[in-house]
Amino acid sequence: MIEKVKQVLSVKVKLILDEEKKRELLRLCKAYKSAMNFVFVSSFEKGKKDFRTLHKAYYRILRERFSLPSQYAVNISRKTATVYASKEKWEKLPKRKSLSVDLTFNRTFSIKPDKRVVSITTMNGRLKNIPYLGWEKHYEYLEKGRIGDPVLVYDKASREFFLHVPVEIEVEKQTPQEIVGVDVGEVNTVALVSSRGHKEIVPRTEEYKRAKEKYQTLRQALQSKGTRSARRKLKKIAGREKRFVESFMHYVSKYLISKYPQALFVMEDLTGIRERRKIRRKNTEEIRQSNQWAFRSFQSKLYYKSILYNGISPIFVDPSYTSQMCPVCGYTSKENRKSQSEFECKNCGYKEHADIVGATNIMIRGLVGVQDFYQGLFVNQPYALSYGIEQAPTSLSGSS
Ligand SMILES: [Zn+2]
Repeated sequence: MIEKVKQVLSVKVKLILDEEKKRELLRLCKAYKSAMNFVFVSSFEKGKKDFRTLHKAYYRILRERFSLPSQYAVNISRKTATVYASKEKWEKLPKRKSLSVDLTFNRTFSIKPDKRVVSITTMNGRLKNIPYLGWEKHYEYLEKGRIGDPVLVYDKASREFFLHVPVEIEVEKQTPQEIVGVDVGEVNTVALVSSRGHKEIVPRTEEYKRAKEKYQTLRQALQSKGTRSARRKLKKIAGREKRFVESFMHYVSKYLISKYPQALFVMEDLTGIRERRKIRRKNTEEIRQSNQWAFRSFQSKLYYKSILYNGISPIFVDPSYTSQMCPVCGYTSKENRKSQSEFECKNCGYKEHADIVGATNIMIRGLVGVQDFYQGLFVNQPYALSYGIEQAPTSLSGSS
């Protein structure tokens, strides 16, 4: 029997609309937003905040006062209930800020992926055959995958409408042939160690370094100004920088899944706190936070790409002491870490690039974790042995 793995992707497409249609959708977005905020205000103090109660209390009002079509009135109660349920206790009144509408597949929304058009129910009938634009790959997902309930989003800055469509893709499950530990380093480089003994550091590109420096200089100049317009510019630049880092992470994760097509990738579970990222430096917190975000962004990209292209679901392991533990003798100490990039074991003298040590420990944890699962698969790969002999640090491009 062929086993399948599933992955839900969010596909973003831009709608091609004339001014009149834009006005119609904007009207819907505004009504939806104020209707939801109305429900928040009027239900906040009352005890019952589940869908049934809200629906019963507000359906008619939403239909009449806000002129919302039936399905939207239902969705508002449902969405409001979800927001309430997402927190144990709400200290402050929740508020809908974005101009967006929750659509329902095959009710208020339908799509013809072969013709690349959608239709959307508005407060004034249905807008049919709206063309959309996306990436080539996204068209393919929409054609092949199972489509869920999308969200219509209005972007104020560009005055454009976008659809965020969840698509479930099914891929044939593959059996991995090696285990690859992935460590995201302090300076956004990625280190890899494979159970086949291969090790590698993916360096940052020159373009990446230059862009990062450029953003840094811009940020500092604007921060010292401190005016309102400077703050606005700062926000804009932050967005641009984020998109730039994202595209770099796409590039790295793509490289990894094509270079290691049969790999079971092992990554650190970053949901906990990361002791080791606390490296003393100026505005450490800022760097740490931006790194945290980049780590997560990278991990999620590698995760879904590995499933999508290679049919293998990556796994996550406990990240504690992966940078301090000696992968040869097991001795664990802060002292093992000579600098950001150098590792030298105080017990056995084993030397290696610190990021490679991190990736090795991650790989070993993954290996231990899956051994019961894929019994016998790695028996003929005496990884630890060959690794022990290979003491001299290999020259690594991009290591600093
Ligand atoms: Zn050691």
